[in-house]
Amino acid sequence: MLKIKKLKVNGFETVVVGKDPRTNFHSIIAIHSTRLGPSLGGIRMWPYVNERSAMQDVRRLAAAMTKKAAVSGLPVGGGKAVIIGDPMKDKTRSLLLTMGEFIESLQGRYIGAKDSGILPEDLDVVAEQTRHVTGTTRKRGGSGDPSVATAKGVLLGIQAACQCVYGSKNLKGRIVAIQGIGHVGWNLGRLLYQKGVHLIVADPEANRVEQARRSWKATVVPVSRIHQVQADVFAPCALGGVLNAKTIPQLKAKIVAGGANNQCLDEERDPYRMMERNIVHVPDYVLNAGGLIHLVVREILRQRQVKPWLKTIETTVCEVLTTSIQKGIPPLVMTNRLAKQKIRHSMNIQNA
Ligand code: NAD
Repeated sequence: MLKIKKLKVNGFETVVVGKDPRTNFHSIIAIHSTRLGPSLGGIRMWPYVNERSAMQDVRRLAAAMTKKAAVSGLPVGGGKAVIIGDPMKDKTRSLLLTMGEFIESLQGRYIGAKDSGILPEDLDVVAEQTRHVTGTTRKRGGSGDPSVATAKGVLLGIQAACQCVYGSKNLKGRIVAIQGIGHVGWNLGRLLYQKGVHLIVADPEANRVEQARRSWKATVVPVSRIHQVQADVFAPCALGGVLNAKTIPQLKAKIVAGGANNQCLDEERDPYRMMERNIVHVPDYVLNAGGLIHLVVREILRQRQVKPWLKTIETTVCEVLTTSIQKGIPPLVMTNRLAKQKIRHSMNIQNA
């Protein structure tokens, strides 16, 4: 039987831990905020070493979703789910059904979606137990994999950053280093290649890098070196915490702009470390909002046109980078302020 334990966590509306030994299920859902609407965020399946590290991850991710929805002007709040387990070995139909049951217990205050380790087909199984899930396959009536929209948004943000830093958004001849060529990284690589960019890539999956080498004539480097290569843009598209006290001094690109969530290990100090080195870091939750935009526009607002919403990423990146340069404040700090303002503003409108 699924057992649910409710925890009191400062700054979060609800945090629940679900366990079911019958299906080897161990998961946490964190609802950071429902002030602007039901919380929406992906389900990440990852072999966390223990519940503590899963808890840390889910809290950071859920809080970032609140800011992401707010800066993108979407009527949803921030939440996230993690499943402790290896998606290659532990992802069974019964485990996914239990995930559906767990989500259903929150009665719509959390809406699930895809994140690392979870595919739209997996969400179809989750949806057998709950209707509070987005991004199921088109066959099941969902809007499918949001990674393409995420990559399109990242591309628009990279162009805007190049305009600010290099004076042109034309990417032809630029060099972009992509860390991780999974769903987002692969789609981003494809779009950049079409724009005439030379790609440098790294991924622990040998077949993916080989495919990138063949399809895009990409230069392949070891995973440990990708952040240090000479490039115009470094695009982290794997996991969080890649920008830190050790890696920042090794960066050679003037722009860091990628799809991964929570790229700074220390959100207080790392943005300043980059600014001191004159590196422009485009805040991840502005840049990678395309996936969330796609899900909300298609499945919650029931609109067909995602493109105009994606364009807001370009506008926000321009606005944030310009103000950041004028005021001498790191872009992430600027964006955090912008997100807070937008939440306050939307709540004032709701309460008027
Ligand atoms: P994914 O699991 O499909 O891809 C991640 C890739 O990174 C894999 O190919 C993996 O082998 C590789 N990788 C793992 N460790 C690495 C390392 N040390 N160096 C280089 N590569 C490494 O996940 P995804 O859906 O592409 O998401 C990637 C990131 O983007 C995550 O942080 C996710 O939260 C974020 N994100 C994804 C979406 C989306 O629409 N999928 C939306 C917003 C944010």
